[in-house]
Amino acid sequence: MIEIPNGFFYADPEEWKEKIEPGYRMEYFYREMRRRTGYLMNGDEPEGGEWNYDDQNRESLPKNHPVPEIPQFEPDEVTCEVIEMVEEYFPDHFGEVDSFPYAVTRGDAVALLDDFIEKRLDEFGPYEDALKSGDYKLFHSQLSVYMNNGLLLPKEVCEKALQAYENGNARLNSVEGFIRQILGWREYIRIYYETMMPEVREANHFGFTEKLPEMYWTGKTRMRCMSESIKPVISEGYSHHIQRLMILSNFSNLTETDPRELNRWFWFAYIDAYEWVELPNVLGMSTFADGGVLASKPYVSSGNYINKMSDYCKNCEYSVTKKTGENACPFNYLYWNFVDKQRDTFNDSSRVNFMVNMFDNKKSDEQKEAIYKSSEEFLEGLSRETE
Ligand SMILES: Cc1cc2nc3c(=O)[nH]c(=O)nc-3n(C[C@H](O)[C@H](O)[C@H](O)COP(=O)(O)OP(=O)(O)OC[C@H]3O[C@@H](n4cnc5c(N)ncnc54)[C@H](O)[C@@H]3O)c2cc1C
Ligand code: SF4
Repeated sequence: MIEIPNGFFYADPEEWKEKIEPGYRMEYFYREMRRRTGYLMNGDEPEGGEWNYDDQNRESLPKNHPVPEIPQFEPDEVTCEVIEMVEEYFPDHFGEVDSFPYAVTRGDAVALLDDFIEKRLDEFGPYEDALKSGDYKLFHSQLSVYMNNGLLLPKEVCEKALQAYENGNARLNSVEGFIRQILGWREYIRIYYETMMPEVREANHFGFTEKLPEMYWTGKTRMRCMSESIKPVISEGYSHHIQRLMILSNFSNLTETDPRELNRWFWFAYIDAYEWVELPNVLGMSTFADGGVLASKPYVSSGNYINKMSDYCKNCEYSVTKKTGENACPFNYLYWNFVDKQRDTFNDSSRVNFMVNMFDNKKSDEQKEAIYKSSEEFLEGLSRETE
């Protein structure tokens, strides 16, 4: 096999592979990459004095806050031909082809990059974790697909973001946050993949065996957060990071779905899904299927955080303030059910072991019984994927 060097990545996995093990976190790798590239560095010191400005990047979106549209392109002749073929050969396949808003040429991909840098990068940071009904892009770049297929190179993307900071057109917490996703996460994930394959493909730390809930294929559910996160995947093969992590993966974990089923769905469903990046995000970051090599804790939460970061709960048939019983938000009781059942894993993590104490010592016996009952009923009534 001949390998042709290219600019798809910054780092050579061979140099880093041996570091990938529990305890070696992305943050260490990222700092070293900042030093090597000199991005946002003043000598040996990070720009502004901090390596990471995430504490400024957790705002929910204020009501009526304007969000610039991402330009869309009319499909060209070749794209139309491919759309017709897909319709003919895969009429019942998951997803729709009615709208294909993506660039298919280098020129259009560069135009999208420039548009992002000019109109959305500055507010990328503060609203990075925000969720809003009817808008699944917000201030995200939607550039992963072009970096993954080679229409854009990560270096030009990061360097245009840096330029915007230097010109005073984008704030530091946004530019640092954006560069960290690419120079940090994207690179680290790829090294993880090169190191952990092929064994990690079958990883299933919790031993879950349930099929994927049917709603992932149809988008039909009374849970507003789930329908809002699945609909754009069906129409455009995209939803943003927090929808993927905090809603879709969280629910899969709480419903004890086999992580390999979820992995298969993400692989099928997203326009930017290449195994080297999709699989580590699902089996490492989101489901803890690798037992804690990539992430330091299982990614699960109750409805509180979803309510804090979104307007979904206001428009949901379930009540986020109700903890158990009819119409209570399923995330609420499923979360505690998960903590109780997976207590060994929680106890092993200094970041979440206090949750087991809270369950044991702060919940009354009646509350615990109600959690078990609501969870059992919900899980029994959940239709599972039969694809
Ligand atoms: C369960 C799950 C599955 C995912 N599957 C994929 C996938 O198939 N393909 C894919 O490219 N990304 C995947 N990601 C990572 C991330 O969600 C997407 O890269 C991002 O949402 C793409 O949208 P964007 O371009 O608007 O990103 P932005 O929010 O604008 O971020 C900028 C860029 O940073 C990079 N980036 C951000 N987070 C990550 C990450 N965790 N891993 C690698 N790169 C990252 C991407 O290149 C992205 O374009 C997944 C994340 C999760 C939690
Ligand atoms: S109430 Fe629960 S199910 Fe409904 S949107 Fe909020 S978090 Fe999702």
